[in-house]
Amino acid sequence: MLTVEKHDKMQEECGVFGIYAPGSNVAQLTYYGLYALQHRGQESAGIAVGNGRTIAGEKGMGLVGEVFAETDKLEKLQGHIAVGHVLYANSGFSTLADAQPLVVRYRNGMLAIVHNGRLINGGALRRELEEEGSIFQGTTDSEVVAHLVARSGEKSIMEALPKILPRLRGAYTFILMTPDSLIGIRDPHGIHPLSLGETTAGYVLASETCAFDTVGAKFLRDIQPGEMVIIDKKGLRFEQFAPSAKQALCIFEFIYFARPDSNLLGKNVHMVRKNLGRRLAQEHPVEADIVTGIPDSSLSAASGVAEQLGLPYEMGLIKNRYIGRTFIKPVQEIRELGVQLKLNPVRQIVAGKRVVLVDDSIVRGTTSLRIVELLRRAGASEVHVLISSPPVVAPCYYGVGSSSSAELIGARLSVPEIAKVIGADSLGYLSEEGMLECVGLPQENFCTACFSGRYPVEAEDGGCREGGENGGGCVGCGLHV
Ligand code: SF4
Repeated sequence: MLTVEKHDKMQEECGVFGIYAPGSNVAQLTYYGLYALQHRGQESAGIAVGNGRTIAGEKGMGLVGEVFAETDKLEKLQGHIAVGHVLYANSGFSTLADAQPLVVRYRNGMLAIVHNGRLINGGALRRELEEEGSIFQGTTDSEVVAHLVARSGEKSIMEALPKILPRLRGAYTFILMTPDSLIGIRDPHGIHPLSLGETTAGYVLASETCAFDTVGAKFLRDIQPGEMVIIDKKGLRFEQFAPSAKQALCIFEFIYFARPDSNLLGKNVHMVRKNLGRRLAQEHPVEADIVTGIPDSSLSAASGVAEQLGLPYEMGLIKNRYIGRTFIKPVQEIRELGVQLKLNPVRQIVAGKRVVLVDDSIVRGTTSLRIVELLRRAGASEVHVLISSPPVVAPCYYGVGSSSSAELIGARLSVPEIAKVIGADSLGYLSEEGMLECVGLPQENFCTACFSGRYPVEAEDGGCREGGENGGGCVGCGLHV
């Protein structure tokens, strides 16, 4: 079998969606929006709808189509405003308590919250709240924010937020919904994306612009770092709640997370990935017969590599896209029979060929080893691995599931050593300089910490240092549960 093992890829963050559109079927539009964002999280999905007086929600474990398989679940959600969420749980132990939207009732009303990212002081805030008597059901930062709102003592969410937001540190994109308003919030570094679109009936917020195409919305603009947008019956207004710190969009959005048809900072993700592939081939020219990419995230870069090397781009590996959360994963004994469930090589394409295999990144190396083995078993005479990003040498503390430093092969071994471990005839990584040039925006726009160890948010908090040397205990980065 070849399934990508937990944490052998940078794990997508979450997907958030919100819509304010009186007269539209907002629950169904949110469902379609979440479908478009499904690649950002497959653990759970949920939708909450506001109708001006109250909020109703449905959520469950699994894919969007699984959670809302019964159409009456959507039909029950009537209103003019909605939020939705798909979860990737980076702790690997997700339960329904962590599924979002989180819908809460407190003395001043009701609130639904969805979020993407990770508060690096989330653990500290949680402990403080617990000491004051708060009880938590799950492990999400949304619950921390809900408690902060409830305890703020303010009458409205707009009065509570100025007290709460300055207390949050780290990477966060929140969409909050009251029964009659929608509020999108992006952290002062803008580490995770949030864009605003417009439909004929109202406005849409989403982690990625591909969700706008799905619901027939037109892109208006990105929410800026440190900015919030408030959408209600008065229309649309923006507030800068924190001075915009240096923008630090996660560069892995371009490399791997985002869908190729999404645009980030005005750049199309597919086009950027193709540039990464071209540059990669310039930096590491290889004598070979064909180029193949690992579906789906590496296909754009692989096409750029093929174009640059003047080699045919082939579908050497086929991915089964229909393995859901409830799929029974084979035990070791079955695995050893060579059962291939997620990726299968096309023998007729790779047999007897010198293959250039393009991947977006290597985290621990175990999956790369298996894919190289697969190609060799299918008859490839040589396998040259090209990676369309630099070596991952440092963990992420911002809500992206990676691995601890000790598990990152790029932090432990040299490139020739990694090539040996994964069984490749040669291995080439894109340089950091090449990566940034291909994106075509200044370096200061991005977080590149997992390649460089330079974290945009750490000194002010001490950050998590794998096991928590932050004054006694992990602050809750999610990596070390
Ligand atoms: S550390 Fe890496 S994965 Fe995490 S936000 Fe920064 S660039 Fe993205």
